Amino acid sequence: MTRRMMKTSTALPIVKNKTLNKRLVKKHLLIKDINDIKRISARNESRNWDFRSFLKMQDGDRTDEIVKPIYEFVVANISCRECGNCCRKAQPQLTDSDIRELALKLDVTISEIHEKYVEPDEFNDLRLKGLPCVFLQGNECEVYDCRPTDCKDYPHIHKQEFTTRLMGIIENASICPIVFNVFEELKIKMKYR
Ligand code: SF4
Ligand code: SF4
Repeated sequence: MTRRMMKTSTALPIVKNKTLNKRLVKKHLLIKDINDIKRISARNESRNWDFRSFLKMQDGDRTDEIVKPIYEFVVANISCRECGNCCRKAQPQLTDSDIRELALKLDVTISEIHEKYVEPDEFNDLRLKGLPCVFLQGNECEVYDCRPTDCKDYPHIHKQEFTTRLMGIIENASICPIVFNVFEELKIKMKYR
């Protein structure tokens, strides 16, 4: 599984998309409890794959336009600082630059970072060693300001070409409340039954 993660601030403003806000907030449609998310994702598994096939037949640019405000609303209303679930479930990939940043932050040598915190995956890409992540304290990242790029980018919903990443999005929907809620709202917006 590709490991991507991103921490968002609790201080993000509520997006001024009144129609969307009203419907989601009024109907309490944002689901944040990770146990509920796991349960619903398991129940929806085959429907999610069918929805993927449906999305693959849609215009990708139009889908990006629909996803954008949904994502902005969801990310502004779900606090990564109250979650941290991705840091418990998947290991971020590391670039040389990530490793240098961590060495600077922790005031140790690059060799020490490799020895203590890095391991290769099955494709020989370098990843942070161990789960949950050694830098996770409660739900907070203790190296937040120099967390790996993979962590900053997660869960990738802000990027264009949503429909080219649907396998990862479906995988991440059972891990990440942001992905889960964007995906569920997208079904409603696209009138997918
Ligand atoms: S480095 Fe920080 S953001 Fe990345 S997995 Fe570890 S705790 Fe999470
Ligand atoms: S799983 Fe999603 S909501 Fe939770 S900390 Fe990671 S990116 Fe944020």
